Amino acid sequence: MKDLKMVDLYGQYFRLKDEIDAAIQRVIDSSAFINGPAVKSFAGHLAEYTGAAHVIPCGNGTDALQAALASLDLQPGDEVLVPDFTFIATVETVALLGLTPVILDVDPDTFLIDPATIKEHISPKTRAIIPVHLFGQCVNMASLLNIAREYNLKVIEDAAQALGTWYTFPDGTKKMAGTMGDIGCTSFFPSKNLGAFGDGGAVFTADEELARRIRSYVNHGTQKKYYHERIGINSRLDSLQAAILDVKLSHLDEFIKSRQKAAAWYDEQLAGVSFLQTPVRASRSTHTFHQYTLRISGIDRQNFMDYLKNAGIPSMVYYPLPIHRQEAFSRFSFYNGYFPVAGELCQTVVSIPVHTEMDTEQLDYITTNIKKY
Ligand SMILES: *Cc1c(COP(=O)(O)O)cnc(C)c1O
Repeated sequence: MKDLKMVDLYGQYFRLKDEIDAAIQRVIDSSAFINGPAVKSFAGHLAEYTGAAHVIPCGNGTDALQAALASLDLQPGDEVLVPDFTFIATVETVALLGLTPVILDVDPDTFLIDPATIKEHISPKTRAIIPVHLFGQCVNMASLLNIAREYNLKVIEDAAQALGTWYTFPDGTKKMAGTMGDIGCTSFFPSKNLGAFGDGGAVFTADEELARRIRSYVNHGTQKKYYHERIGINSRLDSLQAAILDVKLSHLDEFIKSRQKAAAWYDEQLAGVSFLQTPVRASRSTHTFHQYTLRISGIDRQNFMDYLKNAGIPSMVYYPLPIHRQEAFSRFSFYNGYFPVAGELCQTVVSIPVHTEMDTEQLDYITTNIKKY
């Protein structure tokens, strides 16, 4: 059996080696390493794939969030609603820009923001909300967008883990993660659904003026070279990454199917295991399984993970500490506050390998061992 990994980046590369090597060679031959034709080509294909009117590539998903927030003309102290159970970047960028994060606890089954909890956290200073489509499933966007409209909140989707996930609105309209709010952000960190061979990110919007501001922000606040209209940052997707991503984008739907196939195996094989809960599906959303995350009960998590490790099965905890307990946020009023669900999840979740290269032998080995435990 092939070695088990949380994500098999080499295996995926090896399958596409000829295509990827040729794409890399083309960039080297052109030597257009920054803003070369590969970047434009990839951005165009990504716009087609997602249905986003404007795609602005940038250096990573964190910069995408920062650029999105910076484009909204928010004032210091303005409040932005964010979930308690997410990667730090979602909240860090809010704080970095002098804005005030306000934390929402999450739904215990889907791990996502529950729109029913939003209104009680809205104050006269609330300006925006960042739904995070965690692990590959979309937040209940129909309800969230209704509340956002009612309270005039901007919506920035954090789709770093959900590129390729579809959401169906009650009227039957289908939209892709990242294209439903005012702005969407994604990441091409190597292990993400669409991963580069390094860092990368992109911002999506349907609003031409926001697109213009975001494009300017990630390019030193520039529209015309050497004329700077605002303080910006330097955040670019480099041409090599774009060329690799362009190849991989044409396989993204297959990648997603492979992840879903692995997840379906787990769902079926682990359904009756008493000490764990397999992932609960969010309604109206597909699941692209950036992570396959179990919730355990009645066992010692570390002992379970050690057992898996001894059997050669890696596992990880996303995330071990909720946002409201991160020392970085100790100056905010939510620090060490009462957010029982996220706190509980941090104690009980465990993610097992799910990636594009898993075969039945590996899956069977993993589920057989889990059942034995
Ligand atoms: C990965 C990730 C990011 C940040 O992306 P980087 O490209 O690593 O900067 C932001 N939010 C979430 C939810 C993520 O998983």
